[in-house]
Amino acid sequence: MKLESSLAKEAAVLAQKLCELERLEHPVWVFDLDNARILWSNESSLNVWQADSKEELLSRELGADMSVSVSKRLKQYKTDFSRDKTARFTEVWTLYPNGEPVTLNVVFSAYWLSSERLCMFCEGVTEKTAGAETLRSSEALLHTSVHISLYSSAGAPLYRNPASRSSVANANSRLQEHFVNPEILRQLDDPSVDEIQAITSVNTVNGVVWHDITARRCLDVVSGEAAWLISEVDVSKLKATEEHAQFLAEHDTLTKLPNRNYVSIYFQKQIDEVLTEGKSGGLIFIDLDNFKNVNDSLGHDAGDQLLVEVADRLRSLAVSQYSIARLGGDEFLLMINPIESEQHFESIMQNIINVVSVPITLQGREVQVTPSIGVALFPNNGTQILELMRHADLAMYHAKETGKNDFAYFSKELSDAAESKMNLVSELRLALKNNEFETYFQPRVEVSSNLIVGAEALVRWNHPTKGQIPPGGFIAACEESGLISDLGKVVFKDAIIAQRVWAEQGHDIRISVNLSSLQFNEENLVQDLLDIVREHRGNTKKIELEITESVLLGHDRCTIDKLHQLVACGFEIAIDDFGTGYSNLAYLHRYPISCLKIDRSFIHSMDSASPIIDLIVAMAKLFDLYVVAEGVETTEQLDMLNNIYCQEYQGFLFHKPTDFNSFTRLLSQHDIMAA
Ligand code: C2E
Ligand code: CA
Ligand code: CA
Repeated sequence: MKLESSLAKEAAVLAQKLCELERLEHPVWVFDLDNARILWSNESSLNVWQADSKEELLSRELGADMSVSVSKRLKQYKTDFSRDKTARFTEVWTLYPNGEPVTLNVVFSAYWLSSERLCMFCEGVTEKTAGAETLRSSEALLHTSVHISLYSSAGAPLYRNPASRSSVANANSRLQEHFVNPEILRQLDDPSVDEIQAITSVNTVNGVVWHDITARRCLDVVSGEAAWLISEVDVSKLKATEEHAQFLAEHDTLTKLPNRNYVSIYFQKQIDEVLTEGKSGGLIFIDLDNFKNVNDSLGHDAGDQLLVEVADRLRSLAVSQYSIARLGGDEFLLMINPIESEQHFESIMQNIINVVSVPITLQGREVQVTPSIGVALFPNNGTQILELMRHADLAMYHAKETGKNDFAYFSKELSDAAESKMNLVSELRLALKNNEFETYFQPRVEVSSNLIVGAEALVRWNHPTKGQIPPGGFIAACEESGLISDLGKVVFKDAIIAQRVWAEQGHDIRISVNLSSLQFNEENLVQDLLDIVREHRGNTKKIELEITESVLLGHDRCTIDKLHQLVACGFEIAIDDFGTGYSNLAYLHRYPISCLKIDRSFIHSMDSASPIIDLIVAMAKLFDLYVVAEGVETTEQLDMLNNIYCQEYQGFLFHKPTDFNSFTRLLSQHDIMAA
């Protein structure tokens, strides 16, 4: 009621003020934006509004059945006018007095009441007689969320639909102020460009956002002059999703550092830039020593925590001109670009060692990790990021091999060595295919009787050009490349066949086969060996598997299970080179072992090593294991064995390893003691 009376007062004031306008032939009225009412109108408006009287028109509550888009537009007008008090707009409006559509061209501008309230002054210019199509399209233009605007070819604004008006900070802003990207601005000035389509950043009332824009050259229907018609859709949200996806693709989620993808693109760009300036830089490959131990003993969460901490420390290195990335696992990459001086570069590396080596507390425990660092310099060691990474990686391995917690530079020698290793591996792969490997056998002899009671299978490589190569020349490469898995099976198969053939000839001796610790990583090791035994009608009870102490040291549940399964299948387990490893005696009774082989080195220096031999023998007795002495070359050594608890020996004194046929002859010349 109160509102009614205050409105009536305002209306009365207006009627007095605007009485001169009664004479106009155009319909003219003042619209109250706050209350959605007409506050004043001239006589000719009554026609347009189909009103009986002014009183009746002023009493209409126009907000009652107003659509959402119309009320949104009214709000928009308010913002438009508060931004620009002098703005005038022309729009085609369709009014619905008493439900009947009446279309007319309306020019409207701001009108402030004496109470400072903002109203809208509306002037119906010409009654529209346009077709339905035009009417609908102009309605669509008013309501669409697509921003439509028309600018003169010089950039002055000619028209903006409400969506466009809602986004510009200033209704008079020119086309050139709208775009951020200089390339778009250039194209707008280029007479040969008729259309521009782009997703680009634009200035809006909400700051810089992303719009999908189409700009077309056209003619302004009013002036007939060249103009730009621009339509725009806000794609900021899409763009943000896309940017996030790109971030994820190029960064490591754990440490938020750039990842390998990022490195291959952006590091290369930086390298190129520095090289064109004639400067040099360094790529630093960092690998944490013993990181696996942390993961294994404290769990993956602790491992993750450690990686995040190391990433933070590397980030905080006070170095200018550097980039940093995590390549995966415990590998980080740092690029110094450009290098100021040799001393400065080395001090950076010393700093890396220092910051990474500071102990960190994980689950209440102090843990210290140290880095091994490899460096490749550009352009000296290459200009391509992948090549440089490979070289820095090689240098890192060299640092690790020669003592951890240190750094090493890449050198030609390192890459030559790596190359020849690679060549060796591909030769080995071929050798496996071409059956170039041959299994030799060395007799195992009973000390008391000097009769052959067994044999050890030892592999040889009959190289097509280099002649026969002993295992020392290729076993390590097979282990590193994973080929040991296939090679191990070839030797195992040969041993199974030899055992059966000799047994059929009346020499049912035990054959031992070397198993690499890496073969225990094979999930199906046990089943694969059993398949070979079955296929070649072998006898597991006559096969001994020689393993090294390193297999037992991991205390890996799977390995232990495999050992027990093998024993359950009838195999015997011997520990090879005993005494050279950790000689942790505890495992002797924990694992299903039946034999110890004393390493050759102790037999060779029997005098000085006698306390060790005594200890080994004492333990073997304690755990009821039998003992084999390896590498017996002299009768003195054999005599010594006669005096201690040692059942068998191997060595050049009796016979060198020899091929299958020679060994068969050797057996037939001997009285064999069946096992
Ligand atoms: P190992 O298992 O300790 O084998 C005994 C090595 O001592 C053999 O060297 C043998 O020829 C050598 N030897 C035997 N008696 C004497 C002696 O009186 N004096 C001297 N100086 N040496 C003697 P080989 O055949 O060169 O094998 C070297 C190593 O290669 C083996 O040491 C074993 O660790 C590995 N190996 C050989 N064959 C295989 C295989 O099939 N699989 C795996 N995983 N490793 C193998
Ligand atoms: Ca052996
Ligand atoms: Ca050995």
